[in-house]
Amino acid sequence: MTDLLIIGAGPGGYKTALHAAKHGLKVTIFEAAHVGGTCLNVGCIPTKTYVHSTSFAEAIERQPQVVEQLRGGIETLLSHPNITLVREKAKFVDAHTIETSSGELWKGANIIIATGSDSKLIPVPGIDSSNVVDSTGLLQLDTLPKRLCIIGAGVIGMEFASVFNRFGSEVTVIEFLKECLPALDSDIAKRLRKQMEKQGVTFYMGAGVKGLTPSPSPMGEGRLTVTFEQKGKELSVEADVVLMATGRKPRTEGLNLEALGITLERNGAIPVDEHFRVLCDGGKESLPLRGGLEGSLFAIGDVNGRQMLAHAAEYQGHHVVNRILGIEDHIRFDVMPAAIFTMPEAACVGPSEDQLKEQGTPYECHKSFYRANGKALAMNETEGMVKLCTEPGEGRILSAHIFGAHAADLVQEVTAYITLGATLRQLRETVHIHPTLSEVLIEVN
Ligand code: NAD
Repeated sequence: MTDLLIIGAGPGGYKTALHAAKHGLKVTIFEAAHVGGTCLNVGCIPTKTYVHSTSFAEAIERQPQVVEQLRGGIETLLSHPNITLVREKAKFVDAHTIETSSGELWKGANIIIATGSDSKLIPVPGIDSSNVVDSTGLLQLDTLPKRLCIIGAGVIGMEFASVFNRFGSEVTVIEFLKECLPALDSDIAKRLRKQMEKQGVTFYMGAGVKGLTPSPSPMGEGRLTVTFEQKGKELSVEADVVLMATGRKPRTEGLNLEALGITLERNGAIPVDEHFRVLCDGGKESLPLRGGLEGSLFAIGDVNGRQMLAHAAEYQGHHVVNRILGIEDHIRFDVMPAAIFTMPEAACVGPSEDQLKEQGTPYECHKSFYRANGKALAMNETEGMVKLCTEPGEGRILSAHIFGAHAADLVQEVTAYITLGATLRQLRETVHIHPTLSEVLIEVN
């Protein structure tokens, strides 16, 4: 009996394995593909390599080097004496037993499901065309598409729109909602979209895609025509490549969860409690333990559908191991920063002003602009805005939504203040280096 079995060696799985192993637990981790998961192999890291490359040619050359180097690093870390890496697909036999594709059985006191997510494609005619790709497919292209049509202006859509526009593709984004990045403050999201429009990206907002067909004209050979409806009018755009960026769905296929009596949530996620313990019986009960064994079954990361972010998976796994070890922690899962790596960046932590209004939560809104910041001017990065929401009357900071250069780093600072329950006054009374972008935080009205 192993202390901990983990299915999936993405950022949730492998970081959890390391944390557990360092604390003396014996861990077996199963991975059917490369270690590092979506984030390292086909997600965050390749995308950031693209963002920090000056051309498409440089990006496709550097991407495999960066990924391989990091993958090698993870494999070295996983060679820890307390960790066994099994490079096979795993499925459940019961709540404490896993069978790998070679038929071997593994028993664990605790099991963590960390299998991640897959792209969610919308059911429109023409989706099966070879010119239609998801984010993984886009990162495998060896020629730059002249015209790229992106369906969905969420995080993936906006990041790729920004980078492919900079590489020289003609980029059109079609989004169902009236504003991009629904989780971001709408004021901030609109400014980011307008900035990207200035840079050359075309947006059709409030537009529903109806279908994709091969372009009829001889000039348009090999291209697709994307038809969509906006304000009751039927419109179309031509594209060499169409990127589907319409969300991701939890990956549970082939795990044999049925054998455990787990009913998936409507979005396909594994239901979990506040400690990421898997719930059965329609999501009401934690899974009963078999044969009086200590331990339990957990699901962390994208597969539980809570917050589809690599760092959320990592901290959820950290918390699970702490629970197994009886270590108390104070990780604030309600204070989850997120960043969108467009150029310029956008980032947020805590509820947007729109959400605070909807919830009827009393708040004060404080703003500042990059154009008044000395460092931003010196960097020629004057497009940007900070929105901090606080409890009224010198109360605690509730949220920060920022668009502009290095927004992710600035939001990280505010995340610390929110986690510690600090007020805006305490933020202002914290000495900030001059000249830095971080001064935009103390410059809010
Ligand atoms: P998303 O949910 O962020 O956005 C999908 C967008 O597609 C939405 O705005 C939605 O309205 C739109 N859409 C859906 N159906 C449509 C249709 N038929 N026509 C037009 N628009 C349509 O999903 P995503 O951008 O695919 O990202 C998937 C997940 O991966 C998210 O949870 C995201 O947070 C995560 N992710 C995070 C990062 C990061 O943190 N930097 C990067 C990449 C992905």
